[in-house]
Amino acid sequence: MKKTWVTLLATTALTFAVTGSALPSYAANSAAKTLATAPNLENAFTAAAKEFGVPKELLMAVSYTESRWQMDAELDTKDHGNGNGLMHLSDKSVKKSLSDTAKALGVNAKQLENDPALNIRGGAFVLAQAQKNLGKQLTNNVNDWYEAVASFEGASDKQSAVLFADEVYRILKEGTSLTIEGGTLSVAANKAIAPNKGQYAGVTYGLGVTPDATPDYPGAIWNAASTSNYQAATRPTSNPINYVIIHDTEGSYSGSINWFKDPTAQVSAHYVVRSSDGQITQMVQEKDIAWHARSFNTNGVGVEHEGYEAQTGWYTDAMYTSSAALVKSICQRYGIPMDRDHILSHSELWGNDHTDPGANWDWNKYMTKITGVSKNWTVINVDDKDTASGAFTLYGSSQYWHPVTGYGLHNEINYTNGNGSVIYNYAIWKPTIPTAGNYEVKVFIPSNYAGTTAAKYEIHYNGGTVTKTVNQSAYSNQWVSLGTYNFAVGTGGYVKLGDNTGDTNTVAFDTIRFMGQ
Ligand SMILES: [Zn+2]
Repeated sequence: MKKTWVTLLATTALTFAVTGSALPSYAANSAAKTLATAPNLENAFTAAAKEFGVPKELLMAVSYTESRWQMDAELDTKDHGNGNGLMHLSDKSVKKSLSDTAKALGVNAKQLENDPALNIRGGAFVLAQAQKNLGKQLTNNVNDWYEAVASFEGASDKQSAVLFADEVYRILKEGTSLTIEGGTLSVAANKAIAPNKGQYAGVTYGLGVTPDATPDYPGAIWNAASTSNYQAATRPTSNPINYVIIHDTEGSYSGSINWFKDPTAQVSAHYVVRSSDGQITQMVQEKDIAWHARSFNTNGVGVEHEGYEAQTGWYTDAMYTSSAALVKSICQRYGIPMDRDHILSHSELWGNDHTDPGANWDWNKYMTKITGVSKNWTVINVDDKDTASGAFTLYGSSQYWHPVTGYGLHNEINYTNGNGSVIYNYAIWKPTIPTAGNYEVKVFIPSNYAGTTAAKYEIHYNGGTVTKTVNQSAYSNQWVSLGTYNFAVGTGGYVKLGDNTGDTNTVAFDTIRFMGQ
């Protein structure tokens, strides 16, 4: 389509309707989140413990292990299957606890997922039922409940069952507290805790079993994913290993391990790292192709970190230290450069639409631990989906802007057609720079709708403006450097790209990243 001079009026910023898919799904749960304040949860734990005859501190420790007492954001549920809410009741686990519990409590599954107090009641119900099924009394002594707790996540084997129960009892023994909205919740330390483990006596995760494979990383415990959840290969011979992909689990460590062992999951990662102490479980051999990042699976190693991108309290120093040593080992063994072009978050991959591990992941700390080099490791990605924050804005008549899904980062790009030598439609990428300094500016050129031979990127940096011309048609799913420039703190710097390409071919607009040097 041609742009006519008739419509060439003043260029004004457009406000695009925010589509449902562009909104994080937790926005819909905001009502539930406001109910999940510390005083409300304290009352809910007390009431549910009394109603179902479950020790309150046990209920709280189970919830802490599942959710750190926060309503989860559920950004990645389809890949993780760990369940929902403070107790993480799920229909994806073996025991179908969500539907069964909803039925027993006379509510629907959605209510059970989204109402914090109801979710806690549901968790108490599941624990009490498990205790009854074991033929045990509903006592006030937490030591009597170990077997019921071990069954809570529907683990398929004893090793994985004690993985969850031991974490819950560690919390009961050591105590914990966490400040959430409205106050602080805590479980008091009880050094006298000595659970009666029953059928799980003598079972310790990672010990006493003959593994069916040796972990590639000596610091990891081997616990195989279901063979239905990955593709066997002979990497790096069959396919080179070029990337390490950083994820978060959106669920507990043990729950994620259970999910990757479930043949219905159809997802996996090579490694899972625990929040509390950095324990690492390897589930898929590095030579094989785990399923965690679509187009990046073939050449990537996937590392999952226990936590939720929308929550705090999960990404601990112990986790960063342990994961960094793992990633350093992977990079050294396959000759992967230890930089932010090769160690990537799931959100930074084209052909993917996930957002993990999110803004709480401390890349400066992590990369410094991996490389031993302390510098500004910040990378700010500004995507064409970042319209709500004002980081990305389209200008000019909307009829000439075409959003297309299925390409680029966050699985969406925009394109327009070239307009000869005059700018009519243009876009601005405006990063929020946290630390003044030099940043390399890179633009992502998608595999389609990048037809122009002369895209003129204007880089407005601290001290000047420079225009870099890129032949978009020469690239396909590639990052192209526009050079390194100094940026001040804040939002003063930006990149602008217009349709003054000199041709009428398509011009693609996706992500620009600003990489600290
Ligand atoms: Zn992910």
